[in-house]
Amino acid sequence: MNTEIIKIDPNDIDASLIDRAAEVIRRGGLVVFPTETVYGLGANTFAPEAVAKIYAAKGRPADNPLISHICSIEQVDLLAREVPAAAYRLMERFWGGPLTIILKRKASVPDIVSAGLDTVSIRMPSHSVAYELIRRSGVPIAAPSANLSGSPSPTTARHAAADMTGRADMIIDGGDSLIGVESTVVDLTGLSPVILRPGAVTAEDIASVTGSCAYGGDYANAPKCPGMKYTHYSPRADVWAVNDISNIKNDENSVILTYGENMGGGAFYAGKTVEDYAAKLFYFLRRADEEGYKTVYARLPDETGIGIAVRNRLLKSAGGKVI
Ligand code: AMP
Ligand code: MG
Repeated sequence: MNTEIIKIDPNDIDASLIDRAAEVIRRGGLVVFPTETVYGLGANTFAPEAVAKIYAAKGRPADNPLISHICSIEQVDLLAREVPAAAYRLMERFWGGPLTIILKRKASVPDIVSAGLDTVSIRMPSHSVAYELIRRSGVPIAAPSANLSGSPSPTTARHAAADMTGRADMIIDGGDSLIGVESTVVDLTGLSPVILRPGAVTAEDIASVTGSCAYGGDYANAPKCPGMKYTHYSPRADVWAVNDISNIKNDENSVILTYGENMGGGAFYAGKTVEDYAAKLFYFLRRADEEGYKTVYARLPDETGIGIAVRNRLLKSAGGKVI
């Protein structure tokens, strides 16, 4: 398949270019597009043959459902059949942004989108290019991260192209993803909100709106979030999560990933804050492979704020290995 790469400035969107991408979605094709979390691989939610191409392009297991991306709260009615008041309050507070909401699905949502579950997951992104693509396509866009299944999610167009060239019809380069870890997934089908995948929106943030919110016990095996049971975010290099990074000595075959205090010595340094680290973690994991490192030592952040999401991704990437 021929993959066209187009560049769109998020601050000055070229309407004719975004219309061409929207046309690919309407025709049943696949478009890689930027969001504030990571790059997505999108197709028309209501075209099952198009959605099937997403699973094929990624090598994604058929029991791992997809998030539908929308551009207005009104579009929730196209997808969900029961929407509690708390869900609307969360949408008002956190959309567009990195929060995915799970609701009971309408029968009109194709089985393949929800991998046969009775639920549907929905998000409205804040990224201007993603927003315009959804709006001009005129349909919700089902989109997982634009990586081959098992690899770190792409946060740059170059990394998305490394996995999706020859597999998607079009790639939109809209600059680097600012958040860098995938959205928080919160299940609103029970009595109280449960986070199935941590992200930039924390349980505290959600509880400040709904009164309560818990992290689903074991992310790795939570049956309600099928995706979390698979190997994830793994580069070729052997990854270790490190509690005290200042103790680590690297050599020519290994690299240190860190933030906060800059260690120098060729370490990949994300910046001062854990938000900087979130933005760079997947980028660094891919860069470690590109530069031929055999081992990665990555600082394990504290369990607070977006650090909860970064710990979750890093521990999966490391297969649970901590030093
Ligand atoms: P990705 O788009 O690659 O970030 O993956 C989406 C994540 O959301 C996966 O971990 C899915 O298992 C999860 N997910 C999507 N839809 C649902 C749903 N209806 N119920 C539970 N988890 C879901
Ligand atoms: Mg993914």
